[in-house]
Amino acid sequence: MWGCKKIIYICAIQHTNNITAMATLRFQALKETLNRKPVEVEEKERRSELFGRNVFTESVMRQFLTKEAYQSVREANATGKKIDRTIADHISTGMKEWAISKGATHYTHWFQPLTGTTAEKHDAFFETIGDGLAIEKFGGGQLVQQEPDASSFPHGGIRNTFEARGYTAWDPTSPAFIYGTTLCIPSVFVSYTGDALDFKTPLLRALHAIDEAATDVAKYFDKNVNKVQATLGWEQEYFLIDSALASSRPDIQLAGRTLLGHSPAKGQQLDDHYFGSIPPRVLSFMRELEKECMILGVPVKTRHNEVAPNQFELAPIFEEANLAVDHNSLLMDIMQRIAERHNFTVLFHEKPFAGINGSGKHNNWSLSTDTGVNLLGPGSTPMKNLQFLTFFINTIKAVHDHEELLRATIASASNDHRLGANEAPPAIISTFIGSQLTEVLDELEKVTDGKLSPQEKTELKLNVVGKIPEILLDNTDRNRTSSFAFTGNKFEFRAVGSTANCAQPMTVLNSIVAKQLKEFKKEVDSLTKGKKMKKDDAIFNVLREYIKDSKNIRFEGDGYSEEWEKEAAKRGLSNNRNTPEALQAMVTEENIKLFEDLNVMNRVEVEARHEIELEEYIMRIQIESRILGDIARNHVIPTAIRYQNILIKNVRGLKEIFENDFKTHSKEQVEIIKEISSHIETINSEITQMIEARKQANKLEDAEEKAFAYCNKVKPYFESIRYHCDKLELLIDDEIWPLTKYRELLFTR
Ligand code: ADP
Ligand code: MG
Repeated sequence: MWGCKKIIYICAIQHTNNITAMATLRFQALKETLNRKPVEVEEKERRSELFGRNVFTESVMRQFLTKEAYQSVREANATGKKIDRTIADHISTGMKEWAISKGATHYTHWFQPLTGTTAEKHDAFFETIGDGLAIEKFGGGQLVQQEPDASSFPHGGIRNTFEARGYTAWDPTSPAFIYGTTLCIPSVFVSYTGDALDFKTPLLRALHAIDEAATDVAKYFDKNVNKVQATLGWEQEYFLIDSALASSRPDIQLAGRTLLGHSPAKGQQLDDHYFGSIPPRVLSFMRELEKECMILGVPVKTRHNEVAPNQFELAPIFEEANLAVDHNSLLMDIMQRIAERHNFTVLFHEKPFAGINGSGKHNNWSLSTDTGVNLLGPGSTPMKNLQFLTFFINTIKAVHDHEELLRATIASASNDHRLGANEAPPAIISTFIGSQLTEVLDELEKVTDGKLSPQEKTELKLNVVGKIPEILLDNTDRNRTSSFAFTGNKFEFRAVGSTANCAQPMTVLNSIVAKQLKEFKKEVDSLTKGKKMKKDDAIFNVLREYIKDSKNIRFEGDGYSEEWEKEAAKRGLSNNRNTPEALQAMVTEENIKLFEDLNVMNRVEVEARHEIELEEYIMRIQIESRILGDIARNHVIPTAIRYQNILIKNVRGLKEIFENDFKTHSKEQVEIIKEISSHIETINSEITQMIEARKQANKLEDAEEKAFAYCNKVKPYFESIRYHCDKLELLIDDEIWPLTKYRELLFTR
């Protein structure tokens, strides 16, 4: 293929002196794309038969583990009980036998460092035993703990170089799986001092906190509840671009998004992509992806076209939150690999193209008991309704009290483009609950203080009971503009970005709800103490106060509107539009205490994360600024000058032919020449200023100050430089334009 590229490149150079290497690549990529056929995907077996084939599931465990070993994994799963080292040896032996029977040759601890991707270091089972002999070995020690040379992962100052060791440790609550020929063991990643260096560790701690807090409250309604699990169903949005087209653009290659490019005449105005028929090449990709997901036990269920051209979505059946987070990370990795086979590049970026929709990752969240009840399911009996209302109202209260922290958890350089842009939830956090539940809460609020009279109680129950079950039937009043919406039997956190690791929002959401439920229990218990008040009355009374206290976070209108911004400001809700601003909430004394009280993160861990997020923000903007400067100065300006020279030559020729009359005949050409000069001038001087701003920012020692400088002093140049480059795109001869255009990226199939 490369040979063919080279020939065309040479031909193109011979054809015209004006064409640049980049423009040649563009045309070659277009040609390649137009010639592509869907890659064949075989599907001989039913998906249900494939499901979990490469996962160390309970039934596989029963087959490959001793009874004792199997019991111990189950217990670790249910109660978090530590697995004994000698038993770990049995488990590893069984796991190894199973993995080898499936063709695995290597094993790895599979973890999620704070880089946002997954990490793995493969080791072979193979070991020599002297005498020229070798065996397959995998001991309990290797299963339980490893010490990867991890000094290059972000740690935010947690890991001093003198103790640069990091440990990965097996997380038995997420089953091992075989990917390719490698046995992957989901693991946490911690420092020598035990501080979390990954996304999973705080998540597991937060899930433990919500389990404790929610179980205690659920027991008010059903004594048989012993465990509450947070559930997560994510929806992954993404763009698929032909890989040749994607690699013809340095910005997509290096930043995962376009930094310039004029909007095509047609974008998504006609809404003809959403839920439309899936293009054949994409369908092939999806089928292979889904097959792989089935084998790995990721229960993907839904696929469809999204709003923007070449934008798609994939969603699984919800799972326990820790497993769902692992599955999303795994999915993102698989997607890239399978896309390669189909000559696609997956763009997970929140805003790869200006002017059309960006991508999010809605996090659908709920709580479910070991008795099989969804605590956010409205139910049908009064007792269950009160239980529903309890969890429902406590969640709203938690979001109300910690909206800024929730906003911080979804902050990133890439999500900044999406939040507050036209199609995405605003940077303001609010909850939408629909008209029926609003009425129910209004009703509850009216209850008089203190003890409920029998009549009030009956009325209230009748009213509440009469209304709640309908929600399930009528989901139509969903509000797509809300950042945190109740959708029938779960909350949907919509502001999460498509590149995010769900562990972050899930850690915070579960932590704040856990804290809230603990407070709720304390208040109810103090009212019922010494039989002062009946339990039901106490619950109603506390809930009523919460409804009043958290009213400000509830908003049923258009979250995209300017009026809402004004209204939200009046209500005192935060509107942190950029990452450095939003991140400040992470490290307030109040929030550090929240994490510490719940044992989710200690001060060092919180501060380290804050530092890492700021560093990442700085680097992203710095990289984009460099790419933009490079493309604009080394590709756009030279192309503009080439075209300008063609025009100048043309004007000179006209002069030769028309002599005195030449001005009338060359008037338009001269106009274009002038216009080009003016764009070149602005672009070049703004790049100089942007570089200077970068230099000034780089001098700052403090990460937060530096992040603010990149945000407020460097980033503002992006838009203007882009504007002038995009204007040149419209002026200059298409034949020499070096950058694959939006129309070509989004509509070539
Ligand atoms: P949409 O938001 O696109 O209309 P759906 O209403 O179909 O989508 O829901 C999408 C997601 O909600 C799916 O990922 C699904 O697994 C998840 N979901 C459904 N019930 C729950 C629950 N109890 N807990 C967590 N997620 C859930
Ligand atoms: Mg959704």
